[in-house]
Amino acid sequence: MTGKRRPPVSTKKKPANPHRTTKRIGLRDRLGRMTYRAACRLMGTDGVNRLRLASRLHVPSDEIRILGDTLRAKILENELTDGHAMVSIVEMANKPDGLHLHCEVCKTVCEHVAACLNFILEEKLFLGLSQEPDPHEPIENLTPDELVMRAIADRRKRAESEKMTLSSLDRTVPWTEYTVTSAESGKTYRIALRGSQPGESYCSCPDFRTNQLGTCKHILHALTKIEKRFSKARLSQAYVRQNFSLRVDYSEPLGLRFNLPEELSEGAAKILKKSANKTITDVDQAVKTLRALERQGESIHVCPDAEEFIEKRLLQRRLQTKTDEIRKDPTGHPLRKTLLNVELLPYQMDGVAFAVGTGRAILADDMGLGKTIQGIGVAHYWTPASLLRAKQWIRSSQA
Ligand SMILES: [Zn+2]
Ligand SMILES: [Zn+2]
Repeated sequence: MTGKRRPPVSTKKKPANPHRTTKRIGLRDRLGRMTYRAACRLMGTDGVNRLRLASRLHVPSDEIRILGDTLRAKILENELTDGHAMVSIVEMANKPDGLHLHCEVCKTVCEHVAACLNFILEEKLFLGLSQEPDPHEPIENLTPDELVMRAIADRRKRAESEKMTLSSLDRTVPWTEYTVTSAESGKTYRIALRGSQPGESYCSCPDFRTNQLGTCKHILHALTKIEKRFSKARLSQAYVRQNFSLRVDYSEPLGLRFNLPEELSEGAAKILKKSANKTITDVDQAVKTLRALERQGESIHVCPDAEEFIEKRLLQRRLQTKTDEIRKDPTGHPLRKTLLNVELLPYQMDGVAFAVGTGRAILADDMGLGKTIQGIGVAHYWTPASLLRAKQWIRSSQA
């Protein structure tokens, strides 16, 4: 063998490798498609650790901008002369993944660049890089934002492919109540369409209640249909709220939110001084505000998901109070002997109370300490009868 020779160009069709492409696809698309794994690769040897260590650096979200084919970000670091380093990412076809990474202070791929990549991975939605991730990318490689994007993309696909009948309460306006019936399941759900963004509308389907996306295939289906029925100008006119409503806000942190009518009475404005346009995570505060508004003569529509949310939180708190009592003296608590047909050891009683009180827990006791019996104890504690008692207690204390 003499020297190294380039292998002949294969004429066989190879699967396209997106990381070798030299085509200009635009910086936004490139960053939008960037996965955690790709970012590690861009950071070179030990990229995983370099990205992890860079999470100590702060990137102010108003100091990161994308203009044309260049992203510029200010990374704060007190030890630097200026207190910050400017990082730029430029689309360059001949660079790995088509991206040229640069730090003005270090002149190399450094911790500042890593901090910038971290920010991009975490804040794709914020930066407007909402490119749908590659459907073949394993879930564990996706960032939380990418998981959300994929979940919405899945529902959009179903919204397009499944047959549904949509009927409107008022055909002259886009933002109104609808019912949607699935041809496949025959089930009908109620939709309150209030805008095109996730979190603005409501659907009574089970997926909407649990997916925490603020949308579902029914809402997405309805939105595509009304985009055909109404002009852009008409759709851009926001929904005018006539009445109060209380809904669940599915963004982080999960909580409750009052939707306010266009015209707010003086009394209502006073009550809502602190909680207008804010997510309320404290259920007590939400219920207190609700009651105060009702006393002012306001009528408030509590959306079914909000009702369920309040009840769940109150129930969990009631259980927590009960189990805190047990945990103060697990040895002497009567439930230790009566919960199951066998007597629980004090630490087992404590384990059961802990798991029930937190709502969800991982039991990681050593082998032989009785994880099974504790699991059965938790299940037993959660029997319909004890839940019913807790619910009745909540109702009686609310009245
Ligand atoms: Zn640097
Ligand atoms: Zn739905």
